[in-house]
Amino acid sequence: MSDNFTDLAVIGAGPCGLAAAWYARSMGLQVHLFEAKARAGGRIGTNHENIHGERLVVERGPAGWLGEHPLMTELCMELGLTPIESSAADSHRYLVHNEQLVPFPQGAAAMATTRILGGREKMRVAGERWADFAPEGTEETAKEFFERRFGPGFASKIVAPVVRGLFAGDYETLSIHAAFPKLAEVEYEYGSITKALKKNPQFFGQHLRSFDGGLNEFTDAMANGLGGGFVPSTPIDTVVQEQGWWFLYAEGIQVGVARQIAVCLPVEQTAVVLREYLPGGQSALDRFLGYDLASVAVLYRRDQIEDACAGFGILAPVDHASPVLNVQFAHSIFPQHVPDDYLLLRCLMGGETAPNATQQSDEELLRILELDLDQWLGVNGRLQQHWITRVPGGVPHYGLGHSSALHKIGEALDPNPGLHLGGDAFFGIGITPAIERGRKIAADAADFRRA
Ligand SMILES: Cc1cc2nc3c(=O)[nH]c(=O)nc-3n(C[C@H](O)[C@H](O)[C@H](O)COP(=O)(O)OP(=O)(O)OC[C@H]3O[C@@H](n4cnc5c(N)ncnc54)[C@H](O)[C@@H]3O)c2cc1C
Repeated sequence: MSDNFTDLAVIGAGPCGLAAAWYARSMGLQVHLFEAKARAGGRIGTNHENIHGERLVVERGPAGWLGEHPLMTELCMELGLTPIESSAADSHRYLVHNEQLVPFPQGAAAMATTRILGGREKMRVAGERWADFAPEGTEETAKEFFERRFGPGFASKIVAPVVRGLFAGDYETLSIHAAFPKLAEVEYEYGSITKALKKNPQFFGQHLRSFDGGLNEFTDAMANGLGGGFVPSTPIDTVVQEQGWWFLYAEGIQVGVARQIAVCLPVEQTAVVLREYLPGGQSALDRFLGYDLASVAVLYRRDQIEDACAGFGILAPVDHASPVLNVQFAHSIFPQHVPDDYLLLRCLMGGETAPNATQQSDEELLRILELDLDQWLGVNGRLQQHWITRVPGGVPHYGLGHSSALHKIGEALDPNPGLHLGGDAFFGIGITPAIERGRKIAADAADFRRA
């Protein structure tokens, strides 16, 4: 095989493509990984800053992966990396009620006393174990599922902010089966979510994991492990299959030839690269498209903020007028990333409920954010530094009919031997699902080569 010919060409060096390439290489395949940007990581991106001689680690995208997962533990060991665990649990957040911060109710006792819900709403929550099941074969939105099980008060005051803050989505359109498949499963397994949580308290309040130097330690280690197989600054725009080989092009120039390809891109770019192979062409994937997001990190001196900003952060209410979806207390989640005298707040703005927010200027986004922070936390003076990252397409949309639409796409791509599909628009949002999908692609590619 010449240098330009490989067993597998992976397109996109986010966590999914990196894992596909890394595992495939460790299974003995010759791999090239093509990435549009100069660096690997995809939506993972870590800035290393210096504040008066002290180190500051600022994540521009994901903050970490949630919970302990054997696959992640094993991969970190193989990469020679030691993860760190967040000080605060994911559930240790605040909701905004009547413009004030109220602790997210964790557990039955907190639910009974929280100010967020009225008396009747609490009784409805307490009666969850007797809720009806949906008729067989029904696919529900998050709103429908939680209203049926816990009542409308719980759904709008507690679930809607979670969906908005974590998925940048709308609980009225998000499919519970596609976005929270485990929840739909445990309903049937235990007959009730409350019972399931009682038996498995580990489902709730998980800790985030990252690295001392931030998440890019992880993606850089995988990219470095590929040696010359990592091909940065090469945006693939066309793939063509001929006589059992896949030919890859960037701006009309052939940059690779491989027996198999793995497309591990965001939705929009997947649609471009696979346009010849998708039913209906480039618009075939429109239903998976997410909404533009801005990830905004702001640094304050500790003495500028009245609130201690302990815990994981704040979820904005669903009827919140501004496009701020959530605030993460980054200094409290991973204190080793932020000097003691500073508070680092990471906020998401935009998403499905505020799709045009990211068209505003940086100054305007900061102005809006500072107003919210002042109201919620009591801020004295202006922020010290900021980092704004705009993420076109933000988080993909997992709407009703997601699984059947994905199945159809799979059927349409199936006749093309050696074509593998990855990416968080299809197989689960987050770092862990991306790594799981990458490993599955590698295993399938190894099987294909053996066949
Ligand atoms: C603001 C934000 C915060 C998040 N926070 C978390 C979190 O805390 N925890 C968590 O688990 N998940 C989080 N996520 C989700 C997580 O980032 C994604 O699910 C994950 O990155 C998906 O990985 P991927 O490999 O599928 O895609 P991506 O990470 O998007 O990687 C795709 C890669 O393809 C490259 N590419 C694009 N076009 C081309 C082309 N034509 N040719 C070659 N390469 C191309 C891109 O440059 C990119 O490197 C967050 C997402 C966002 C936007």
